[in-house]
Amino acid sequence: MMTTNYAPDKQGYYGKFGGAYIPEMLYPNVEELRTRYLEIMHEASFLKEYHSLLKDYVGRPSPLYLARRLSNKYNTEIFLKREDLNHTGAHKINNTIGQILLAERLGKKRIIAETGAGQHGVATATVCALKGVECIVYMGEKDIERQAPNVARMKMLGAKVVPAVSGSRTLKDATNEAIRDWINNPVDTHYIIGSVVGPHPYPDMVARFQSIISEEIRAQLKEKTGSELPTHVIACVGGGSNAAGAFYHFLDEPSVELVAVEAAGHGINSGKSAATTRLGKPGVLHGSKSLVMQTEDGQVVEPHSISAGLDYPGIGPLHAHLFDTGRATFLSATDEESLKAAFELTKLEGIIPALESAHAVAALDQLQLNEKDTVVLCLSGRGDKDMATYMRAMEEQSL
Ligand SMILES: *Cc1c(COP(=O)(O)O)cnc(C)c1O
Repeated sequence: MMTTNYAPDKQGYYGKFGGAYIPEMLYPNVEELRTRYLEIMHEASFLKEYHSLLKDYVGRPSPLYLARRLSNKYNTEIFLKREDLNHTGAHKINNTIGQILLAERLGKKRIIAETGAGQHGVATATVCALKGVECIVYMGEKDIERQAPNVARMKMLGAKVVPAVSGSRTLKDATNEAIRDWINNPVDTHYIIGSVVGPHPYPDMVARFQSIISEEIRAQLKEKTGSELPTHVIACVGGGSNAAGAFYHFLDEPSVELVAVEAAGHGINSGKSAATTRLGKPGVLHGSKSLVMQTEDGQVVEPHSISAGLDYPGIGPLHAHLFDTGRATFLSATDEESLKAAFELTKLEGIIPALESAHAVAALDQLQLNEKDTVVLCLSGRGDKDMATYMRAMEEQSL
């Protein structure tokens, strides 16, 4: 695992963003993690088990696929990084595998997580089953109703799904419940956060676990094109973990344009959007300072996206820094544009993407690409979970 100029400082700051804004009661838990995570992640036995599970359990390396018909359409060369082919159908498993191995080495016997759409809950329940570890997933009561298939998966995997019944009964409330649990169980419990968010060291830890994506891209691109460097890397951003993973080993390569795609929902200024860099202001969310969608008096605004995984009112501090410094280009795609892109990719390549990933595909329309470009697009997940939405779209628009 190599390091980068974009790694956070000792206190977890990426420029103005990051840090650890936590209740005092949580300090010992976070401090234990902060002092141990790098040392554990570099242990030979850790790396051996991590890479062996990624290979034989997750199915890595995920292919880098030259999408010829999609490339023709844009008169350029587009490679898809196939995170959709991972076990459990998305990139999230890269992180949960890493964190369960870390938890084991910290002597933790109990895992907690919070989930909105249920994808991170499923990835967490999966690795807990793999290791035979107790798993508690907090989930807003409303989300439990909306995401029945993922709730069933978690239960089948042996996790206890605990409803958060306060507030808006969604992700924010589930997060509060998880933090409360962690405060009450500081010694035996590890909290698995699912994106590059949360107090330091989570954003850095999760980015490192996901950096396997760009480590593989470099080697695969070299084999396929003779060069390790594409001209563009494109990824969708909810909290930002698949983007952080896809960007990581290119952060210090200024010739590579990093393109992050946010969810514009019904349109950036429609009041139903999740385009954090367009609408957000500096603020503290989930334990770190970043850009946050909020009202004048600092109340977090309820976001909207057709894709549950991008329906988040913030972004990780690394991304806020990449935005602030101009190192990454931030674009956005609406619900409608992303739906259209999902159908187009399916027709052109025979690949049904997750709605989240379809946002990255939709952004191809906004870039001026030509035949000299080499584009890598991170296809973060597969579309099985989104079939109900796709079916509705087909009925409504006779697609
Ligand atoms: C959760 C999810 C995302 C968004 O999360 P990031 O941390 O921004 O990567 C994107 N794509 C898929 C398929 C997801 O499940």
